[in-house]
Amino acid sequence: MDLNLILVRDVRGVGAQKVEELNAMGIFTAADLIEYVPFRYEDYTIRDLVGVKDGDRITIQGKIVGEPVLQRYGGKSRLSCKVMADAFFITAVWFNRHFLKEKLQVQQDILLTGKWDGRRMQLTVSDSEFPGPGATKTGTVQPVYSVAGSLTQKWMRKVIKQALTQYGAMISEVLPASLIRKYGFMSRGKALAIVHLPGDIHEGQKARSRMVYEELFLFQLKLQAYKAVNRRRADGIAQQIELPGVRAFVRSLPFQLTESQKQVIAEILQDLQQPYCMNRLLQGDVGAGKTVVAAVALFATIKAGNQGALMVPTEILAEQHKRSLDKLFEPHGVQIALLTGSSTERQRRDILAALQTGLVDLIVGTHALIQEDIYFRQLGLVVTDEQHRFGVNQRSILRRKGMNPDVLAMTATPIPRTLAITAFGDMDVSTLRELPKGRKPIKTYWVRESMIERVHSFIDKEVAGGRQVYVICPLIEESEKLDVQNAIDVHLQLQQHFPRMRVGLLHGRMSAQEKDAVMQGFKDGIVETLVSTTVIEVGVDVPNASLMVIYDADRFGLSQLHQLRGRVGRGEQQSHCVLIADPKTEVGKERMKAMTETTDGFEIARRDLELRGPGDFFGTKQSGLPEFRLADMMVDFAVMEEARDDAAELVAEQAFWTGVEYAGLRQYLQRQQVFDSDVLD
Ligand code: ADP
Ligand code: MG
Repeated sequence: MDLNLILVRDVRGVGAQKVEELNAMGIFTAADLIEYVPFRYEDYTIRDLVGVKDGDRITIQGKIVGEPVLQRYGGKSRLSCKVMADAFFITAVWFNRHFLKEKLQVQQDILLTGKWDGRRMQLTVSDSEFPGPGATKTGTVQPVYSVAGSLTQKWMRKVIKQALTQYGAMISEVLPASLIRKYGFMSRGKALAIVHLPGDIHEGQKARSRMVYEELFLFQLKLQAYKAVNRRRADGIAQQIELPGVRAFVRSLPFQLTESQKQVIAEILQDLQQPYCMNRLLQGDVGAGKTVVAAVALFATIKAGNQGALMVPTEILAEQHKRSLDKLFEPHGVQIALLTGSSTERQRRDILAALQTGLVDLIVGTHALIQEDIYFRQLGLVVTDEQHRFGVNQRSILRRKGMNPDVLAMTATPIPRTLAITAFGDMDVSTLRELPKGRKPIKTYWVRESMIERVHSFIDKEVAGGRQVYVICPLIEESEKLDVQNAIDVHLQLQQHFPRMRVGLLHGRMSAQEKDAVMQGFKDGIVETLVSTTVIEVGVDVPNASLMVIYDADRFGLSQLHQLRGRVGRGEQQSHCVLIADPKTEVGKERMKAMTETTDGFEIARRDLELRGPGDFFGTKQSGLPEFRLADMMVDFAVMEEARDDAAELVAEQAFWTGVEYAGLRQYLQRQQVFDSDVLD
């Protein structure tokens, strides 16, 4: 019988009330209960006091050698008594356990568990027992589960033990035999029994690491299978790329492509020609030149007789891309349309009609574009800029309309490898590893707020030299309104400080037309200094800007600061970035230092991950990061990489799709809706 079909109420000792509480924790079946692995252990193995470190939690055996002393203060109490253990006289201390006083008798043996303070020769006791049949914890390793509601640790231990007694023999293996052999794992049944009731810590950890591997392997198997299924399904468009035309287009660009760009373009063109849907992530440091890569891919698609869509996060970016693509595509007769929230109803209708009839080759808009009531004559390629991934539901919206385009997602931030194979394991990744030649690394300084006068003279100097300046205002997490207020204040200050400087203002509460007018002014050099909230964070490209000033820089994530800084250093001249911050914490100072020490986006991403953890790395929404029950991405990254390689190798074997020994895994994937039965033959 399948343990997934046995409900928790069938486990002895689980009543109706408890069923509800377990369900609330996501535990419904006997399998869920047995797979509810402890997050740590408490070790009650008796230890010798010699060699114990300060602050260690230990269990010792001793003899009571002094009368217990009870002190009361406020509503609290402190109970202490002298104990002889391993030939040391120590003090055992209990807090708020005054009722124990009666039980402590001189000459009695006692088992004590608690935190050791070597300087005072004192043990702060959390658990104590008297030797004999009543001593149930001492000498054991106890699992610690995360519990909620009225469920106690003790009850959880008992019930899981009971579930193992009733159903332990029915636990079946899920890992392929080859992998069990490869890593010398114990069987699943044994691992689960031990993980809950280990003989010692070492054994428990060993069992646990098998379960961690299993969790990550199943996760990676899903991604790798999804990818493999997409290829087998082969219902995409095999685009007929016309290489000479693409080469001519590349030659017409105003600069030479970097080797990295050429390499990445080759990968993409290769994919476009395949009968499956491309699902590719393009990552590269800020300023590495992702846009032109997208332009070449779009051009190739259009010349192959298909249409393209380019989606970006903001209207400002949409306008910018439209303009630069117009310049590149103009001589080649490509028809581009821009569709944003500020298009009139009339324009909208015309554009949609033109897309449907094929009069328009390329549509540029915000990410919401795809949700529109939009139909293409033949959509070949969707490019999303500055978005981590193209949502599964976006793809299914297109699928429902009968479109199966290739997809290229371009990320704003370089992503450390562990995160990349976790959040984007189902995608192919292309990486731009170099910046265009002639770029000078941006010089970055961290200054205190008290040095604002010097920052002002810096701004003055750059503008006097014909350059332009960005000033980014503090980020207030709670409120966009406060962000806007900050920008307005700083704008006013600067304008007063430099009455003759043309200072522009940009924030999220302005209308699209207003924003566009200011941005255009900055591009044309009419606006010399642009004060802005983080609406310009991504993508904006004004090569003449050479100074980036960021107020309250410690409020931003490292990757975000790197993005902001990447707005300068796009031209020939030396560019600078000034971070104004008075961080209160060590981590805050570390982060500012990191920014001044490196301009390498991959290095910054690595440090950002280290300092903030994977959850915060991407910010909130589009993270695509799963929550693991057992695995900790910061600790288990090496396992994640192994699991990925193993899963990829497995799905590449024909036997995986047909062999009986893999039927269980295939069923698992089907339950996870990785594929419909139609792809299994
Ligand atoms: P990002 O990767 O951050 O999106 P962009 O695509 O905005 O970068 O490119 C940054 C700047 O570099 C743009 O001004 C672009 O025209 C320029 N650029 C891109 N590729 C090259 C190249 N191979 N040589 C010189 N300049 C380039
Ligand atoms: Mg870009």
